Amino acid sequence: MREQRKGMLLVVSGPSGTGKGTLCERLLRSDPSITFSVSVTTRRPREGEIDGVHYRFVSEEQFDQMLGQNAFLEHATVHGHRYGTPRAQVEEAIEAGQNTLLDIDPQGALSVMSAKPDTVSIFILPPSYSALRQRLRTRNTDDPEEILKRLSNAYGEVKLLKHYSYAIVNDQLDQAFALLSAIILAEKQRTTRYFPEIYEE
Ligand code: ADP
Ligand code: 5GP
Repeated sequence: MREQRKGMLLVVSGPSGTGKGTLCERLLRSDPSITFSVSVTTRRPREGEIDGVHYRFVSEEQFDQMLGQNAFLEHATVHGHRYGTPRAQVEEAIEAGQNTLLDIDPQGALSVMSAKPDTVSIFILPPSYSALRQRLRTRNTDDPEEILKRLSNAYGEVKLLKHYSYAIVNDQLDQAFALLSAIILAEKQRTTRYFPEIYEE
């Protein structure tokens, strides 16, 4: 038996604080076939964030320059900061057969789905808005004003759920992770990206 695989473009999206980052980190640790697409942002680094690992942190001018060069597969202003997915990085990875993971906001996710219709898109929901508020507070990375902005944006973002291939409610982390892994396991076997060849022996 011989087999070939085409890379999968995987978008994990949903409101801020639902647990996307937590789920994605766990996924990357457990599945070496998946690489993370490092986004470009004009947001300031948070404590512990490393340039080139969590994000590429750039100035507004650098972001504009990249926009002018058509360097983004998608870009969006999210909670007042600009974020973009580097086009070349993603397209090269998919071409090379790598599964590529994007953790991006719903506006960006919709743009990627329309540019690349075979994207596997997964929307992560919190179990309730109060749980979301609690998670944003517990994470302790954003000031109260920023948390309020992220929470009020969540109501609009959840309305975009119907455009996605899958939805996961992240109540118990282990259960949500099991669902995410199951989706990916099945999507890897799609005949549009998995090409097994069998022989007599
Ligand atoms: P996002 O990347 O979607 O903004 P994070 O992954 O940073 O969200 O998670 C926000 C906060 O919620 C973090 O403090 C994280 O540890 C916590 N968290 C994630 N999943 C769960 C869960 N299932 N139950 C409780 N807390 C969670
Ligand atoms: P944070 O500032 O908390 O890291 O991210 C805020 C939001 O921006 C999250 O919803 C995250 O998924 C989203 N985001 C991160 N990178 C990108 C990107 O490249 N494009 C888009 N559209 N959103 C992004």
